[in-house]
Amino acid sequence: MWNGQMMQVKAAIFDIGATLVTGPPVAPNKVIAKYMEGVTAAEIGSVIMTTDLRSPDRVCKALEDKFGCLSKEAAVEIHELWRSQATAAQALDGAAQTVLALKSIGLKIGLLSDIWNPYYASVERALPEVVDTADAIVLSCRSGSRKPSLDNFEFIVEQLGIEPSESVMIGDTYTHDIEPALKLGMRAVWVLARPDRESESIIRILNGECPAPTATVSNISETPTIQLFNYLTF
Ligand SMILES: [Mg+2]
Repeated sequence: MWNGQMMQVKAAIFDIGATLVTGPPVAPNKVIAKYMEGVTAAEIGSVIMTTDLRSPDRVCKALEDKFGCLSKEAAVEIHELWRSQATAAQALDGAAQTVLALKSIGLKIGLLSDIWNPYYASVERALPEVVDTADAIVLSCRSGSRKPSLDNFEFIVEQLGIEPSESVMIGDTYTHDIEPALKLGMRAVWVLARPDRESESIIRILNGECPAPTATVSNISETPTIQLFNYLTF
């Protein structure tokens, strides 16, 4: 049921990776981990995704500060990875249109992503109109915090000048986009474009172990048509 309270949506906040863009199948921290013995991909991710590293040399320095000297091979790989990531993001069909459609019906737009610098640079190239139209952008590499922590969710809502209950989070990963958003009192639209990757969460929801999203779509393009946004178009 859509009650009066539902009439207060003021902002749509989008995840980026696999929600608005698609990119390389292997995450950058996993690529780097292959060249750093004894350091896990998760440990590497905790550095490169939460530090504002503006060049591959800075990445190498940050990893050395934390984990000790890098091999020459690792340094070469990091430079190569930086170059490839900086052009890797490709807009998903309908992504820009969806964001702009929600903007045009009066919603503020937020971008909320766990991302490192070079890949964000490629998002700026792939979806310039989305980046331009965004009213708030919160990135893990700048804020220092990552999903599923509520920190960035609270931060972006504050930046948009709204209450959590007035916002809708739109993302592809239940544990990192949907669950924390619901916990904070936001609405949440699950873009279930890769159900195979989300099967554990689907099972938890069906078994009543965690809350269902406000709405689920199979494709980002369906988002503006859901009932949550219907009243705004009139
Ligand atoms: Mg994602």
